[in-house]
Amino acid sequence: MDHSKINLLVRLQHLDNQIEKIVRLQKGLPEEINALEEDLAFTVKQIETRTAKNEEHLKLRQHLNETANACREKIDAFREKQTLARNNKEYDALSKQIEYEEKEIALAEIGLQDISQGEQRTREMQEKGRQLIAENRYDEISDDMMPDDVLAQQLEDFKQQTEQKNEELNGIVIETAEEVAALQKQIDAQRDLLTTEAKRLLDKYDHLRSGSLRNAVVPLNRNACSGCNTRVPTNRHTMIVQGGFYLCESCGRIVVHERLFEEADD
Ligand SMILES: [Zn+2]
Repeated sequence: MDHSKINLLVRLQHLDNQIEKIVRLQKGLPEEINALEEDLAFTVKQIETRTAKNEEHLKLRQHLNETANACREKIDAFREKQTLARNNKEYDALSKQIEYEEKEIALAEIGLQDISQGEQRTREMQEKGRQLIAENRYDEISDDMMPDDVLAQQLEDFKQQTEQKNEELNGIVIETAEEVAALQKQIDAQRDLLTTEAKRLLDKYDHLRSGSLRNAVVPLNRNACSGCNTRVPTNRHTMIVQGGFYLCESCGRIVVHERLFEEADD
């Protein structure tokens, strides 16, 4: 058996392991940042919806107040005219107009009341939310119950956390960029070498690593495959010790003597 071929493959696994180690340093951070950004976007949207609703209420309230005031002015003018009415017919006509304006005022006031009641309900919901927060009953809080100030604070917290995690990740990426680039270059060269020297072993390696499995080549550990802990048959030990490889019957990994990994580190 040509043992130098397996040495080439062990070297590739060793290099891939080093990259994996660096990636593990960042592990979780990109996912954490994604989750935070989603929370952040959701909070921003909630705040925008509330702001839009408040602005709408403000505009409507202003409009209703203006309408009511205009009606009152008209009523005053009609009353003024009534004092000058020359006959009952003229007086009654003005009374009818006053009545109409009074109805308009009543309608505007109902509209204003509706807005106030809506705002009161909003306040009560948020008060309930505040109470639930105080009692740590977060899972019972609906979006509407989240008090404005808590929501604003949440926004700030999410912003800060996202920034912090991004800085952390950037730090790791910058710190390790050179190392990763150098490793990647070595990996590319090693793969080229394997393509010419041991294509079938490389294919086997790539096939094993095509899923989530990263360690296709593993050292023999206490006479077992260190990938899945299945015992390696005794009659294969000698071959492994001599520098050969064994395909684990249980997980399919390529099992070699750990000495080969030490040699690959040189
Ligand atoms: Zn195994």
